[in-house]
Amino acid sequence: MTLAPSDESARVDGIRLFLTVASQRSSLLGGIKVALIVGTVVNLINQGEHLLGLHWSQVSLPKLLVTFCVPFCVSVYNATATRLRFDPGVRAAFSATLTCQKCHREHQVEKGALVPDCGHCASLGERTRWSPKEAASTNSSNS
Ligand SMILES: [Zn+2]
Repeated sequence: MTLAPSDESARVDGIRLFLTVASQRSSLLGGIKVALIVGTVVNLINQGEHLLGLHWSQVSLPKLLVTFCVPFCVSVYNATATRLRFDPGVRAAFSATLTCQKCHREHQVEKGALVPDCGHCASLGERTRWSPKEAASTNSSNS
């Protein structure tokens, strides 16, 4: 399957936006907390007799590390996917330019502001589905 240049460009922008949001401090800290709790419990279930008995030669290091990595990745993915949803009536997780998936009109939304319906589509009785086009810079202390 080959993508048209504009589709590929949109995909790269989507991946870049996903990685930008995923690498935010709050996403990573949440992932670390979940990994420490869930990873510790699952490691104790899977290798508890070796860990608690301090039989380090019998502990599988790859299993130990993967058991922490999986909940970390799931947590960061879920936090990012949630932040990238801009449903009308909910507060924006970050400032962004939104594009209506139906009519492709754009709308700027500030972090914490209520996400509106698309004026055009709402007037036609259509349900609004926004997709974030790009995250506005949230770090104004650099300038
Ligand atoms: Zn629209």
